Amino acid sequence: MFNTRYIFVTGGVTSSLGKGIIASSLALLLKLRGYSVAIQKLDPYINIDPGTLNPYEHGECFVTEDGAETDLDLGHYERFTNVQTTQANNVTTGKIYQTVIDRERRGDYLGGTVQVIPHITDEIKRRIKILGSTNKYDFVITEIGGTVGDIESLPFVESVRQLKWELGNHAAVVHLTYIPYLAAAGELKTKPTQHSVKAMLEQGVQPDIIVCRTERPLTEAIRDKVALFCNVERLNVMESIDAPTIYEVPLNMLKEKLDIQVLKRLGVTVQGEPDLEEWKSFLYKLKNPLNEVTIGLVGKYVELKDAYKSIAEAFIHAGAFLQCKVKVKWIHSEHLEECDSKTIELLSELDGILVAPGFGARGIDGKLCAIRYARENKIPFFGICLGMQMAVVEFARNVLGYKDAHSFEMSPSTKYPVIDMMEEQKAITNMGGTMRLGSYPCKLVKGTKIYQAYNKEDISERHRHRYEFNNKYLDAFAQAGMIATGMNPASNLVEAVEIVDHPYFVGVQFHPEYKSTVENPHPLFISFIKAAMKNSL
Ligand code: GLN
Repeated sequence: MFNTRYIFVTGGVTSSLGKGIIASSLALLLKLRGYSVAIQKLDPYINIDPGTLNPYEHGECFVTEDGAETDLDLGHYERFTNVQTTQANNVTTGKIYQTVIDRERRGDYLGGTVQVIPHITDEIKRRIKILGSTNKYDFVITEIGGTVGDIESLPFVESVRQLKWELGNHAAVVHLTYIPYLAAAGELKTKPTQHSVKAMLEQGVQPDIIVCRTERPLTEAIRDKVALFCNVERLNVMESIDAPTIYEVPLNMLKEKLDIQVLKRLGVTVQGEPDLEEWKSFLYKLKNPLNEVTIGLVGKYVELKDAYKSIAEAFIHAGAFLQCKVKVKWIHSEHLEECDSKTIELLSELDGILVAPGFGARGIDGKLCAIRYARENKIPFFGICLGMQMAVVEFARNVLGYKDAHSFEMSPSTKYPVIDMMEEQKAITNMGGTMRLGSYPCKLVKGTKIYQAYNKEDISERHRHRYEFNNKYLDAFAQAGMIATGMNPASNLVEAVEIVDHPYFVGVQFHPEYKSTVENPHPLFISFIKAAMKNSL
């Protein structure tokens, strides 16, 4: 362990180049060299956190163990490195300003004028250094959201400039840019990269390493050109070519020696090689499946696949573990609302059905249709959060005969609120950060499918919801064949249900997808895919 080194990852030219994947790949390579690494993301928007953002805006909201609602890139960090993130790993402009303004109101600035520089930048620097000051990490990788040159990211880039100045060779900047291929000219073009590095230089930051996202291999001439015009060593111009799966990027970056060049830049002696054997074996199994299943993912945000990022990745981890290709059919719940013969035809092609988490009434009838089909036709079913709640509603209506049974969320006046608002939620008026969030323990009932999946009694999983199973109905459900299989030992909240007389019908109030990583594919995704494989035979 040495003094923490700081690595900043910035992006130029355009968004969506995969800064999160590059940061995660670098973290993995350093971790596999034996170092301890933390990654954090700084987001330039003014929302305090992405919890209140519509998934169409920003993709999935990822939830950490300690209940932070964060950017989906934190999910990539955890999936790649198997290291859990916390509140400190995601900071937004909103959080920074909130802290500074609270301090100003308390009078902490002693009558001084509060300004972007130094007060906002000092707070940004403090947040960057929080992880390092725990003395737990050799490296802190900080990804700066947005694109260099945006008005919003100016204070962040300025903070990077100051830290680079203060920390000397204990800080390095990796800049990710794009090298477009112009088909008409038959050439790769470096000009946008030159411009984005100029934009950084105008803000006083010289990148140390330039990673070039590209659809075609970089020629030697292109690498020379980027080095010359952007003032970086030739070896520090790296290619990040489009990969068939994000999980190949660490290997590509290893080939480009990203880890070695970063270590050298930070004055760390480079020894040995990272051990990627297990990673390679995961990739081999992912690319050479022996079986295949088709899973219908029913949700209302399916137009934007990022809205269900962790679920899609959890299928990849579990699929690779079982050497089974999981083909996900994205099904818009609104398209199932008619629940007619065409809908049934669509559902009948599936080996398993997952009903996704969500909020609000849109598309609910489609979800209920898919659930009924899975229940009646003994198709493996996996309901997550809202998906579990709707499985309870469907059972209440069609098995127990509670005609207008519903969740309080969709129908506050229902006669049968089988899903009700949690007691502690009733007084809450503020929407941001007030759901039941983060990790809670759960005790599983022996002899159930969920117990078989985990193979232990005590588990803990992450939550993000306001509503819950209404325990008033526990007995009626159990008598009719839907039992509670997991309970919170302290509050007695129902965390999981299943239908006894069904090959696989499991609903969970928590979000198992957040805890699935390459190293630890999630047991519930594995058991669900196994059931779907059996069903497809
Ligand atoms: N809307 C539901 C609730 O708040 C489910 C939330 C979810 O699916 N994450 O309880």
